[in-house]
Amino acid sequence: MPAVITAKEVEDIIAKGGDPKSLPTDAILTPSAKDAIRDYNYARRGPVSASAGAPTKPLNSKSPKAELEAYFNSPAAHALKEQLCDIGRRLWGRAYVDGNGGNIAIKVGDDIALCTPTLVSKGFMKPEDMCLVDFEGNQLAGVKKRTSEILMHLEIMKRQPKAVATCHCHPPYSTGFAVAGLVPPTCMIPEYEVFASVAIAPYRTPGTPEMGKLVAELVDKYNTILMANHGVVSWSHNNVEDAYFKMEILEAYCRTVLVTAQLGKPAQTMTTGQLQDLLKIKQSLGIPDPRHGLKECELCDNDEWRPGVQCAIPPKAESVAGYDHDAEATVKMITDQILAQMK
Ligand SMILES: [Zn+2]
Repeated sequence: MPAVITAKEVEDIIAKGGDPKSLPTDAILTPSAKDAIRDYNYARRGPVSASAGAPTKPLNSKSPKAELEAYFNSPAAHALKEQLCDIGRRLWGRAYVDGNGGNIAIKVGDDIALCTPTLVSKGFMKPEDMCLVDFEGNQLAGVKKRTSEILMHLEIMKRQPKAVATCHCHPPYSTGFAVAGLVPPTCMIPEYEVFASVAIAPYRTPGTPEMGKLVAELVDKYNTILMANHGVVSWSHNNVEDAYFKMEILEAYCRTVLVTAQLGKPAQTMTTGQLQDLLKIKQSLGIPDPRHGLKECELCDNDEWRPGVQCAIPPKAESVAGYDHDAEATVKMITDQILAQMK
């Protein structure tokens, strides 16, 4: 019968100057014991320099296999693999993924990426589970098989050169909007306006090249794509945590919109001037948005990008440039749809 080891026992071993590696290999570790060992290993190793073991010249899919393997097993790659595990835990902890759903990728060369494996819960991944793939989805390194949805991540990276990381999951409120075929209305919460640019891609079978291409068509101007009848995928020009942040921001926003819709009062929305101020911040952060460069009056006058937008209109709206009866009708229709779904 294998021994069950608790965090207290691990701490006792460390306190006596021992090494948790001396535990029997078949010992069953409690989750907190695993955490205690991870903390111990981290403290011994110290923070890994992101550049340790990083290749001196950028790698690509044609690099010699030995160089790719060396990178894959380097401390630099290990640090990124730990980031993938960390983001996976956060996705799972917030119930943004279910079963073995969701996947994450980080670009690590001209046309190569680290990614999560298939058939593993995102909450319980280990660094050694991660995979290295080229931009066609061919696996270059890693023991486990890469996620079946990697083609979508790779299409985003191919189409949007600024995308250094991608994150895909199924957060329930956002996915609800994706199932309804609705892009959330805007002009309600500053954080959503500044950090997320959201569009919707039509449904295709997950993992097919066609799904990836439909998503990729949107990533020039949007960083967060609702996938109809499926979930959400985001990309970041900063890092994988930033790609994940889009999920938290979108999901919180969709919850808030639904709460607002139940309060029996029309939402108080921002003015076009207030929205313009937020878009300036967004542009300064290098985040794309199809509204960049539009004049204030145009912000309420373009149903190409703004189905559902409900910018606050001054009382004598008819005389204001940019007032749009069609857009208002669209807003009313969408609000009614949301309310009807609540019943
Ligand atoms: Zn999915």
